[in-house]
This record gives sequence, C-alpha cells and structure tokens, in this order.
Amino acid sequence: MNAPTASGSTLSVPTVKLLIGGEFIDSRSTQWRDVVNPATQAVLARVPFATPQELDAAVGAAQTAFKTWRKTPIGVRARIFLKYQQLIRENMKPLAAILTAEQGKTLPDAEGDIFRGLEVVEHAANIGSLQMGELATNVASGVDTFTLLQPLGVCAGITPFNFPAMIPLWMFPMAIATGNTFVLKPSEQDPMVTMRLVELAIEAGVPKGVLNVVHGGEAIVNGICDHPDIKAVSFVGSTKVGTHVYRRATLAGKRAQCMMGAKNHAVILPDAHKEQTLSQLVGAAFGAAGQRCMAASTAVFVGESQKWIPDLVAKAKTLKINAGHEGGSDLGPVISCSARDRVTTLIEAGLREGATLELDGRNPDVGAYGKGNFVGPTIFSNVKPSMSIYEQEIFGPVLVILSAKTLDEAIELVNSNPNGNGTAVFTQSGAAARKFQEDIDVGQVGINVPIPVPVPLFSFTGSRASKLGDLGPYGKQVILFYTQTKTVTQRWFEDDVVTGGVNTTISL
Ligand code: NAD
Repeated sequence: MNAPTASGSTLSVPTVKLLIGGEFIDSRSTQWRDVVNPATQAVLARVPFATPQELDAAVGAAQTAFKTWRKTPIGVRARIFLKYQQLIRENMKPLAAILTAEQGKTLPDAEGDIFRGLEVVEHAANIGSLQMGELATNVASGVDTFTLLQPLGVCAGITPFNFPAMIPLWMFPMAIATGNTFVLKPSEQDPMVTMRLVELAIEAGVPKGVLNVVHGGEAIVNGICDHPDIKAVSFVGSTKVGTHVYRRATLAGKRAQCMMGAKNHAVILPDAHKEQTLSQLVGAAFGAAGQRCMAASTAVFVGESQKWIPDLVAKAKTLKINAGHEGGSDLGPVISCSARDRVTTLIEAGLREGATLELDGRNPDVGAYGKGNFVGPTIFSNVKPSMSIYEQEIFGPVLVILSAKTLDEAIELVNSNPNGNGTAVFTQSGAAARKFQEDIDVGQVGINVPIPVPVPLFSFTGSRASKLGDLGPYGKQVILFYTQTKTVTQRWFEDDVVTGGVNTTISL
C-alpha cells in the first residue's frame, strides 16, 4: 500500500507496518508521516499513526498469546533468544545501513548501537538463572516458604529516536524472556531499523502475538498509558514526555519505569592524563552529533586544567562532519530540520547571554550534503549555570564549559543540576575518584570513562529528573520490574500425624 504524504499525494515509498498477532499489516490510519534521511532529506518510508482500534487489536493479541507464552518452558524461551542473537550478528551490516540512513549516525556508531542491544539479547537468553525465586524450609514446624517470579501479562515499551536499535532491545527481549507479551511503540522519527529487528525476532521464533508493534506519537502513547489490559510501561525519552507517561500510566494502575533527559558533566581534575582525557571528552561530547542521553555535554575544568581548553578546541576541529554512511566521518547530521534549528537557536542564546564561543559549528560545509541537518562541533567556555545553554539539554554537538576551583565545588555544581543521568571524573588520584563516586548524586558514574553505560550484567539507572520509577531497564532490576513476586507457604500432612484441631490464633 502507498500511504498519502503529508501533502496529500501518493508516492511509491514503502510503508512501515504494524505487527499485530504475528502479521505485518498496513495501518488503516489516515495520519502518516515521512521517515526522512537526515543527511539528504530523501523520504525513506512513511509511518502511520495507528488508530485506537489497532492498539486494541495489538493488546488483544498480546493478551491471548500470554495464556500460552507464560507457561512456555524456560529452555524454549531461551533458545529463541540464542537464535535471535545469531540473526542479529549475521545481519549487523544491513541493520547498521538502515539505522544510519534514517537516524544519521556513522556506520561504526550504528553498529555500536546494535551491539549494545545485542548484549541485552544475549542476557535474555540466560534469563532462567535470574528469574529464580527464594526458598526457606521449616519457617514453622513442617512449613516451607518460597517465592515465584511470575510474568505480569501485557507490557509496553515507548522508545526514543536516538538509539533505535539498542533501546527497543533493552525492553522487549527482557520482557518476553521473563514470560510476558509485549506491545512496542518505536520512535516515529526512525522506526525502520526497529522493525527490521522485530522481523528478525519473529524469524528467531517469537510466537504470534507475543511481540506486537504499533506506531504513532502522543495519542497512541496516551492510549498505551490508559489501556486497562497493559500491566507495565517502559519509557525512554525526554523528561517532559517521560514525566507525563509516568504520571498517566501509574494513575491507571500500571508499573512504570521512565528513563529521561540529561545534562551530563565531565569533571576534569588537573592531575588527569591530559591527552587521554581530551580525546575521550571530544568523542563523548560530539559522537552521534551529541544525540546520546549519556553524551558528555558539559565539561567542568577544575583549577589549572582550564589551561587545556585551547587543546580541546584544536582536537574538536579535527573531527570530520559528513553523512554517516561516508567512510571516515566522525559525526553525522542531527535527526531533523527542527532539531538543527533548535540547536542553532540555543547557540545564538549562548552568544546573547555572554558565553565565549570557542568553536562555532553552525552552517558547516558538508560538500554534497548541503541539504542535511548538519551542525559541527561547537564549544562554549565561560558558561554560567543561569544560561540557557546550561539549563537546557541541547541534544546536539555542543559542549559547554564551566569552571570550578576545587573538586568539592565541582561536585556541588553537578549535584545542583536537576538532571542525574551520567557523569565522569578524570583524574589519576584514587582518593579524588573515590570521593567523587561517594558524593555525586548521578545514576551512571565514570572514572576515566566518559560514557559509563552499564553492560547488561548491571541495569541502567538515573537520579533525580533523569529517572522515574525505582527499577531500571535490563539486568537484574528489570526482572523484578517485569515480574510479580508470589510468596507460597506450604505444609504437607503426613497420614499418621494428628493435628491439634481448630486453632483461632495467628500462627502457623
Ligand atoms: P521524546 O520524549 O520526544 O520521544 C520519546 C517517545 O515519546 C517517542 O516514542 C515519541 O513518539 C513519544 N512522544 C513524543 N512526544 C510525546 C507526547 N507529547 N506525548 C506522548 N508521547 C510522546 O524523546 P526523543 O526526542 O525521541 O529522544 C531524546 C530524549 O531521550 C533526550 O531527552 C534524551 O536524553 C532522552 N534519552 C534518555 C535515555 C536514558 O536512558 N535516560 C536514553 C536515550 C534517550
């Protein structure tokens, strides 16, 4: 089916399908949007805003599938994920090509996006050893107590544009491996690689109705939050939308976990290894065009380390900006024209508010890709906490530099920022690093590691405005999120033992 474009005409571009009850189908929606290559503005596909009836159908299919999936043996479930990880590996290059075309990041970075999701799939294949209850014998005479970690039912996931492979893979493999069924709502800006990953999951053997996909924006997200048959919602995205989702979903009685926005500080002490630190900082600030929730978007130079700013600027100038599929490019475009305009407007605000523009990435020359949404590496120094470029998450290739006299002052600055997603300290002092890890109020802490995203043996987390809900995605925490603990207390009577008759006091 050819879907109408925003302007109403019908063109031969592919449509992004819904997945309902094991069938990839075209939506009956009248509302569609273009999926656009951010380097060229080419329309790659059209994605529907699914109707309320389609959401009902997806949830209904998931509810039906839950009846048998929840009782499917652990080994059968595990083997599907073993097969799935193999299929993802075999398809790494074509998956990365789709991701780069619709999202903009470089091909190696797209492979990294997929790989970090693949690690969660590998972990999902090992779920049996994590989803085990506890047992205590003889809690009273002849009485044993044990716990079951049972799946909840239909769970849902709502994902952002910036990691269209990794973040969907944070969610549905873990939910499904623990015995739940799932409705996924990918980002409407780049749903194509997510759909290819979903196709591979079906190919790996995920049964009909266990995984379903609907597309859309605000209306479908609200529909998910309100739906009486969805038990839990996982969200990753901006703080504004995540806060709304958390409130609305929990008001409707659901479990919710919302991983949200960031302003990640890298604190550079004067005893840090200079070359390593500056290289890591440049990579973490400008990689993926700054569109990582863990991007090191804010540098705090402590004491004498401020003298390194010219060297930092020189390193940033060496980065190559180009379309993500072009070899040798270090950063590609930002996701949309409006994202580019937003970043540019914030750069203008930084200038107006008195910060020093050390490197201006506006209007870079990108040769054949003049229509792309490019912004080059941009660096501001002399930034004050009251400035817009510090107060807002820019989500583009803009590094803002503040200064602090001491480590204590830097820690106070980081802890005063409303966001608490990621942070890093660069130092060669164990004592300083230990003080930092103890006193900083941020979810992910790196010590000479600029983007400390935890591997799936651990869980992703976040403090303050960066997270709502107590349990994080993937790892051990998400087993508890996606399961209900049931406690069973049992006694077996032996035929020849006579009990003491009726007892009306509370005891075992
Ligand atoms: P976003 O909040 O705009 O969108 C996230 C999801 O919410 C999408 O699926 C979108 O369709 C939906 N949505 C958008 N507007 C909505 C509305 N008004 N009502 C209901 N649903 C709505 O986020 P984004 O721009 O796609 O992603 C970037 C943001 O995500 C950044 O703030 C980044 O820091 C954050 N992020 C956080 C993490 C983390 O783990 N903490 C990871 C990745 C991205």
